[in-house]
Amino acid sequence: MKAQPPASHFVDGQPMEDAAGAAFEVIFPATGEVIARLHDATPAVIDRALASAHRAQAEWAMLRPVDRARILRRAADLIRERGEELAQLETLDTGKPIQETRVADWPSGADAIEYFAGLAPTVTGQTIPLGQDFVYTLREPLGVCVGIGAWNYPSQIACWKAAPALALGNAMVFKPSEVTPLGALKLAEILIEAGLPPGLFNVVQGRGPVGAALVSDPRVAKVSLTGSVPTGQKVYAAAAAGVRNVTMELGGKSPLIVFDDASVDDAVGAAMLGNFYSAGQVCSNGTRVFVQKAIKAEFLKRLKARSEAIRLGDPRDAATQMGPLVSQTQLEKVLGYVETAKAEGATLVTGGSRAAQGGGFFVQPTVFADVTDDMTIAREEVFGPVMAVLDFDTEEEVIARANDTEFGLAAGVFTADLARGHRVIGRLQAGTCWINAYNLTPVESPFGGAKMSGVGRENGHAAVEYYTQIKSVYVGLGPVDAPY
Ligand code: NAD
Repeated sequence: MKAQPPASHFVDGQPMEDAAGAAFEVIFPATGEVIARLHDATPAVIDRALASAHRAQAEWAMLRPVDRARILRRAADLIRERGEELAQLETLDTGKPIQETRVADWPSGADAIEYFAGLAPTVTGQTIPLGQDFVYTLREPLGVCVGIGAWNYPSQIACWKAAPALALGNAMVFKPSEVTPLGALKLAEILIEAGLPPGLFNVVQGRGPVGAALVSDPRVAKVSLTGSVPTGQKVYAAAAAGVRNVTMELGGKSPLIVFDDASVDDAVGAAMLGNFYSAGQVCSNGTRVFVQKAIKAEFLKRLKARSEAIRLGDPRDAATQMGPLVSQTQLEKVLGYVETAKAEGATLVTGGSRAAQGGGFFVQPTVFADVTDDMTIAREEVFGPVMAVLDFDTEEEVIARANDTEFGLAAGVFTADLARGHRVIGRLQAGTCWINAYNLTPVESPFGGAKMSGVGRENGHAAVEYYTQIKSVYVGLGPVDAPY
């Protein structure tokens, strides 16, 4: 089984290879097989990508927004037409079940491209009257934007960054995660086929140092990173040296609060979606599930039964509900957290081991109960199918405990009392929240984090703010009043 692309990189409208870059392998996580071999971008590849982006952006910015939008809408249509082929590639690259990649990854990417194509022509400035004079403002593109992706939603991340960047008149050089490098190359191909001029969307592969070289290049106006907090701190600092704009989509340890008047079945379903979808490798997961004591026993009983019925298996099989983790490294990290949770006294409700499935990186869906706020699994991002259930008594108490974290990406509340739902969400320190739902992230809704979980927002009208800059123009209509 092979998924070797024509070349490692995609620069100035075509595939590009430079075998002088250090080689790395792409692994199918369900079997451990090597499916492609790529090379890190060399300084020559990085330079060519940035130079072509710089050149192409100047012309792209001069087009009418509707003309840019037409090309992007065509790209969204091509993604939908090739949905099955793209879903299969995403499954090979990430190990995520085909039943997820058919509906979540590329479809969400196509939505973003379509949405920002539609939005861009409506973006306008203001006029500000000043007596006989006035000021008008223009919303201009930033220039060359760098996108750096994580491995959990590689193609969705590439689309979520490329869509607003391109629609609003910027160019982008995108570096996918070295763990899942294949989807972004397809996006580059599709954009060219849709009519995007060469150079506007380039893909360069490589590990951290390739990202670092991009972030510090003087031709770059903006950096949008999806990744962990430690990487975010480094990238933000490097961008600061050049006073570049940033969007930082980082990690989380989000609370999902279940009050005792909630529908237990809905809350259990949401907690499972928010911990087991994509084998738990989702940044906004509700990994601290706070359950009010009166329903704890019932909640755990139904959760255990439904978790044990999850079908683990080959992610290419449409019946499979949970695939492997993305890599051996991630497998070891997650199993390490499971052992720590056991050692720190959490009660194992179900799972807790590696699952025997071929040579893949599978972990059983795992639930710990009686987790306390100081335990490692209640404080650190596990990024695997490991749910921590914590008990609480009162609303006041759970709000304080939910906020007692350095992260602030997401939060959810389940309750039949909508006034309480809004009241509690109003006091939670998180950027992306749900009431009686969890982890739904439609493109129309801004997405991003508070506190250490990030800076800026993707999606929705909010993203316009992060891919444009305002120029204000004072227009004098009278004589110049100079005192000398
Ligand atoms: P990571 O931080 O290890 O890597 C992210 C990307 O940064 C990769 O492409 C990597 O090569 C690159 N990188 C590493 N060092 C760099 C440097 N010094 N300069 C520039 N680039 C560098 O993250 P990961 O393991 O790929 O992804 C998992 C993390 O991503 C989790 O913490 C998860 O919560 C987070 N995440 C956040 C969101 C969000 O929208 N908030 C979405 C998905 C994932």
